Amino acid sequence: MISDWFIQFFRLFFPKNCESCGKNLLKGESFLCTDCLYQIPRTKFHEEKDNPVNRLFYGITDITYSTAFFYFQKASKYRTLIHKLKYGGQKEIGIELGRMAGREITGSFFDETNLIIPVPLHPAKKRIRGYNQSEMIAKGISEITEKELRTDILLRTKFTETQTKKNLEERRKNVGSAFKVVKPEYLNGKHILLIDDVVTTGSTLIACADELLKTENVKISVLILGFAVQ
Ligand SMILES: [Zn+2]
Repeated sequence: MISDWFIQFFRLFFPKNCESCGKNLLKGESFLCTDCLYQIPRTKFHEEKDNPVNRLFYGITDITYSTAFFYFQKASKYRTLIHKLKYGGQKEIGIELGRMAGREITGSFFDETNLIIPVPLHPAKKRIRGYNQSEMIAKGISEITEKELRTDILLRTKFTETQTKKNLEERRKNVGSAFKVVKPEYLNGKHILLIDDVVTTGSTLIACADELLKTENVKISVLILGFAVQ
């Protein structure tokens, strides 16, 4: 493609910028500058079974391990990064962050998982956005951990309205039964690693887990990219 060629040519002469703070990247830096890379507020939740993400699910649904790659604060400089991933068409950001998250969990409890499933988007929403951001994160994780990634087993059948103005109970009702499992036989004996982008209450993940757990002999663990905190 001419446009690809043009981009390569352009980059020879004009350095790329950090996707988070916008600073020119130095040689050896890719996607994020060294400051932004090292200042990511990692949660390290993959090192402890009992953590604030796992507590979202206590007494509600059966999740084996849970973690978040980093704390996501609205005022932080990483907001731009997430915004570009979700609304700016920059799916590569999801893949890059997924690779980082994949490296982070390697050697932890999460080694026990053997099938990666991203929280699906409704097909109409995916068409509008061009891709599913959680699938991009999952792709990066799968690349690093070499675990199988499937997007054809858990489907979203309901186009839900925006969640931001609803409380937890309303959100649970809103997403309840929005998901459907096809090919449940494929899940037999699997320990699924369910992937989501930014999570506040966990209601979407709970709805996904409820659906997946209808199949017997299935375990579920959860990895979210950003854990939203005030
Ligand atoms: Zn930066």
